[in-house]
Order: sequence, then C-alpha cells, then structure tokens
Amino acid sequence: MKKVIYMDNNATTRVAPPVVEAMTPYFQDLYGNPSSMHAFGGQVNGRVDEARERVASFLGARPDEIVFTSCGTESDNAAILGTLEACPDKNHVITTRVEHPAIWNLRLYLRNHGYRVTELSVDRKGNLDPEELQAALDEKTALVSVMYANNETGVLFPVEDLARITASRGIPFHTDAVQAAGKIPLNMSDSAVDMLSVSGHKLHAPKGIGVLFIRRGTRFSPYLKGGHQEKGRRGGTENVPYIIGLAKAVELAEEHMDEENRRVKALRDKLEKGILDSVPNVLVNGDPEHRLPNTTSVSFEYVEGESILMKMNDLGVCASSGSACTSGSLEPSHVLRAMGVPFTAAHGSIRFSLSIYNTEEEVNTVLEGLPPIIEKLREMSPFWRDYKTGRTSSPMAAH
Ligand code: PLP
Repeated sequence: MKKVIYMDNNATTRVAPPVVEAMTPYFQDLYGNPSSMHAFGGQVNGRVDEARERVASFLGARPDEIVFTSCGTESDNAAILGTLEACPDKNHVITTRVEHPAIWNLRLYLRNHGYRVTELSVDRKGNLDPEELQAALDEKTALVSVMYANNETGVLFPVEDLARITASRGIPFHTDAVQAAGKIPLNMSDSAVDMLSVSGHKLHAPKGIGVLFIRRGTRFSPYLKGGHQEKGRRGGTENVPYIIGLAKAVELAEEHMDEENRRVKALRDKLEKGILDSVPNVLVNGDPEHRLPNTTSVSFEYVEGESILMKMNDLGVCASSGSACTSGSLEPSHVLRAMGVPFTAAHGSIRFSLSIYNTEEEVNTVLEGLPPIIEKLREMSPFWRDYKTGRTSSPMAAH
C-alpha cells in the first residue's frame, strides 16, 4: 500500500500506541463491570475513578464534574437537551451559524419541537461579535452554546468573554470544545463555562468515547435515562477500556502540548505559506491569528474541492473538503457560506489538519504535488479560462 500522508486530523486521529497498550488489559483480563459488588468488578471501578481524576485534572475540573459519554455528538446533545429538560419554563437557545452538525442539525429538531433558536452570525474572518450575543439574551433563554474552535477553519471564539456575559444574566453556557481539547490548554477551574464537550478520537484516543464536563450546581437532566452510572447523569455501563484509553490520551496530550504545538504550528504555517506562494487565486479562510495551531482551510478558486481531494488521494495525501461530516454533498459548507466566502472559492476549499505524527518531509511532498494538480484541474475549467482571458473577474478580488 502507498504511504499515507494523513492530514485530516480534525476528522479523526490515529490512536496513540501507548493508548492501545493502556486499553488492552481491559478487554482481556480486567473485563468486570465497575458497578458489580464483587472485587473483580470493584478493581475496575477503582481504575475508572483514577481515569476520571486524570481527565478532570486535564480540564481543570473536579472528578465529579466529568461525565463519560459515547462521543462528542452525544455530549453536545446531552448538554442542550439535558438543560432544556431541566429548565421547562425556558424555550430559547442561542448558538452560532458555524457549529458542527452535532449542534447545527440539532437546532432543526429544537425548532420542530417548539423552541426558538437564535444563530449568531460571523464575519468574513469567522469571528463573532459578543454584542450580538448580549442583544440576543432574553428572559426565556435556557442556554447558550458556542463552539470553542471551529472544525473547518480552526477559528477560536472568545469563549470566556461570551460565558461571562451569560453568567452575568444567570444563563448557562455550553461550549463544544471537541476540536480544542488536546490542542490548546483548557482550564475549567478559572472559567465561566458551565458545560464543555470533548471527543476522544480527536486527541488520539479511539472513536466512541467522549466527555461532558458539567460544572457543579448546573441544572441538568440525564439525556440517556437508565442506571445510576455517572452519578445518575448518564445511564449505561461504562465503556471501561475506552475510558482508560482516553485518560492515557489526555496524559500524552498534556505532555506534548507545548513542544509539539510549536512544531505542528510551524508545519501548518509552512504548508500554508508554501501553497499561497506557489498557487495563484488562493485564500486562507478564517482569522489567521485566532486559530488552532494545526488547521488551515484553503480555498482554490475555479476548482472543485472534491476533484482536488481525488487527485491528492492518488498521491496518498488525506485531507478534507469542508468538514468530513458534510462532504458527500457538493454544496459549500454552511460554515464557509456563513463567513461569506465567495462562491467560486468556497467550492474549492480544502482543510488540512495536522497532528504530532506529521513530518516536514510530508509537508514538502504536499507542496511539490499540489500546485500541478491545481494547474491541471484549472486547465479543464471554462470558468478559469474566462477569468484568464479577462471575460470575468474574480469575486475574490472584492474581498
Ligand atoms: N463537534 C465538533 C466541533 C467536531 O469537530 C466533531 C467531529 O468532527 C463533533 C462535535 C462530533 O464528535 P464525534 O465524532 O465524537 O461525535
């Protein structure tokens, strides 16, 4: 098989080998149920407690504020639906136009069930205006949910400022930190955030494990109703091996965060600059300053993102057009549309998302292989020909 150059880490990450190692005994020998009365299950319960302490310390939280879930989507759904159920006198939710489908599609469900949903807008750089949030709050607002970092562009929102605004009105604040966790430090001990979602498979743990941080005292009804697990906040026997794996993954993330982020950021910057220097009619989507260190969303005018992906695939390069969850549809992503990225460019958007496993050699390979791909694809485009012969002008020029 051809060597894979994996630059799609916002879609999912490789499970770190020490994580696999930490999990393995919990499939083979330590398979007890943590709720069992016997010592065999009891010893596993002790390990789950330790894992909870590890994850809590990673987030600057207390162990009893950590609820293990099955994924980021469940954490997001639980935060919103659990709050609404606990606050039956409120019917208004505020979120943004650029959320991941885990929240973006939930808003449709909420509207169908009689809730009002306000979507905060973003500007051309993907930033939002805290004053728009301030103005949208009312006495019926049950919850505000604003993502920490955007999965497509990497843009970081001023979550603490926003959470302080809602706290001053006594309204709970949830943040989807699925893309932020493991890449930048998060500290709930010094925060106005009430709830925060994490997903294991974005930080080198397996798919199928997530966390919902719920600050002590936050009103919340369990979304998964069932047993007494997770202090009654999430029914279902704990996924012990994955919880152990997640604890190992956050330990590794903590160890590597500073040093590796400097290296990963440098690789991302080299890749981005290299593309901008070698390909005309390209723009980078999202605020270049307030961004995750590993992500770049690049729009190539007059080419389809899907065609670029297919050609890059032949070179073994894995990236994504828009978000993995929205690809498959040829519509530009709702995130790029909300940012007002010109139509010709939004169609040709590629997201590269790096990790600690990427190397400079891989970046060089992409920088050699990509410009000829774009050139060939553009040669086949009548729109590009019209632009080159001066019959049309680039809408990008207006931005
Ligand atoms: N939120 C964001 C910002 C994401 O990027 C993702 C996954 O891409 C999710 C939520 C969903 O996480 P999961 O795949 O664990 O359900």
